[in-house]
Amino acid sequence: MKTQQVEFLVIGGGPGGTPAAMALAAAGKSVMLVEKGPGLGGTCLFEGCIPSKIFRESARRLREIKQAGQFGLCLPTQDVTVNWSAVLQRKRSILQHRNEAAQHKTTQLPTLQTVFGNCKLLSPRSAIIESDTEITDGQTLLVTFEKAILATGSVPFIPPIRGSDLPRVHDSKSILNIDHIPQRLVIIGGGPVGVELGQVFHTLGSEVSLLEAAPHILGPVDEELSRHLQQRMSDDGINIQTSCKVRAILTTGQNVFVEYSSKGETKQHKLADTVLMVTGRQPNVSGLGLENTAVQYDKHGLKVNDTLETDETGIYAVGDIIGQPMFAHWATAQGLALTRHLLAQPVIFPDTKTNSAVIFSEPEIGIAGLSERQAKQAGINVQVARYDFKHDARAQITGSADGLLKIVFDADSRKVVGVHIMVEGAGELMGEAALLIKAAVPIEAIAAAIHPHPTLTESFAMAVRNVMAQHTAASKTAGHH
Ligand SMILES: Cc1cc2nc3c(=O)[nH]c(=O)nc-3n(C[C@H](O)[C@H](O)[C@H](O)COP(=O)(O)OP(=O)(O)OC[C@H]3O[C@@H](n4cnc5c(N)ncnc54)[C@H](O)[C@@H]3O)c2cc1C
Repeated sequence: MKTQQVEFLVIGGGPGGTPAAMALAAAGKSVMLVEKGPGLGGTCLFEGCIPSKIFRESARRLREIKQAGQFGLCLPTQDVTVNWSAVLQRKRSILQHRNEAAQHKTTQLPTLQTVFGNCKLLSPRSAIIESDTEITDGQTLLVTFEKAILATGSVPFIPPIRGSDLPRVHDSKSILNIDHIPQRLVIIGGGPVGVELGQVFHTLGSEVSLLEAAPHILGPVDEELSRHLQQRMSDDGINIQTSCKVRAILTTGQNVFVEYSSKGETKQHKLADTVLMVTGRQPNVSGLGLENTAVQYDKHGLKVNDTLETDETGIYAVGDIIGQPMFAHWATAQGLALTRHLLAQPVIFPDTKTNSAVIFSEPEIGIAGLSERQAKQAGINVQVARYDFKHDARAQITGSADGLLKIVFDADSRKVVGVHIMVEGAGELMGEAALLIKAAVPIEAIAAAIHPHPTLTESFAMAVRNVMAQHTAASKTAGHH
């Protein structure tokens, strides 16, 4: 058996592990990055963010073509068809390009060795890698290390529902390789992935039903926005059932039946040819050898302290494996902060209170910082600045004026603690939102910042001007008494 000694072992080449391994190697440390999948990029590249947004982009363009008449364009929209194998080919080529670019970057770092194989911890300072690449000569490699970063991500969580293993029942991974557009698709789970893919396949021509256990879709999102989106999806023709419990999935011939009960009524059925189960994700700990270490975990993820160290000294963890929030940018932010800590550089570890995220629904929803409810629970004297995009010039021009901006701020300090946006293009507004929260910007500064016209960013200034006007009026009144 070959053996090797490194300073740092990084297990998992996704958005958590890869940037961390590269940053450590860039500082001259000897690093081994081990990835068992087809390349570097993790769930995000091969089974998540990127492929789902590639599908979405095709759907978005199809919708735009169908709406061309509103913009004075005469197109034979009935002739527009979807060449699904070309969509899949486009996806494959983007994935391949991104994977090759990532691997090329790692080869530029002389002290970084990337090994493709399965890695299992044997003890708190050693691991075994099974690989058939030239680095290990098809042998097993025993690696000893000073410190390790676990970044093995998460896998779909499928509840124990009878029939969930049937052939036409997909999870978030297999649906991204489906070789046709389903005719009738039933989605179990109204979280971000269910909502995004539900709208995508609906636009591409599927008849879509969505079953959600909670009283409304997109649980943690600001309720005003999620309820609005739910209404919009229903108006568009997606059948949404909330407060429902799926009992079983059955097949007869080419048909799949989803049996569920809803709001006290028992045994209802949905007929489909394809079912998608997107019922959450769980930390990927299987086969990692955690039993050979003191690392502790539960169903939500590995236990870590404030510096992302597990219960085993010298073994750290980042990304989905340590639980919510499960986002690519969050995994990267943790990986890079941890690297600075390990290199004894000044560091600010990411704080969920300042995280941001986008749900790529139609229209998009962007979230940064605290919701109104979370801010109240934190004891903040909450005030909300609102702006309705139906008044917005840019949104009117682009024909997507359905939306709302809510800026949550502390009425005492005037500083922004949360931003919640629903509008087509919200994703591109989240950079400003994230910065407002991280830098604790007072709303007066937002109003004073010059936002170019006509752009959606003007909405930030418009929203706060409204509340500033009220504030000034109230102060004047108070002054008179
Ligand atoms: C359908 C879908 C859409 C998504 N869309 C978005 C989005 O739009 N934006 C966003 O921010 N997030 C999105 N996410 C979430 C995002 O993909 C994850 O949060 C992110 O990939 C987590 O990064 P990670 O590095 O922690 O883990 P992963 O990306 O899961 O990477 C872990 C890697 O570890 C490897 N590995 C596991 N075990 C071993 C082992 N024993 N030995 C060697 N290698 C191992 C795996 O092969 C994998 O490559 C989406 C997820 C899904 C499923």
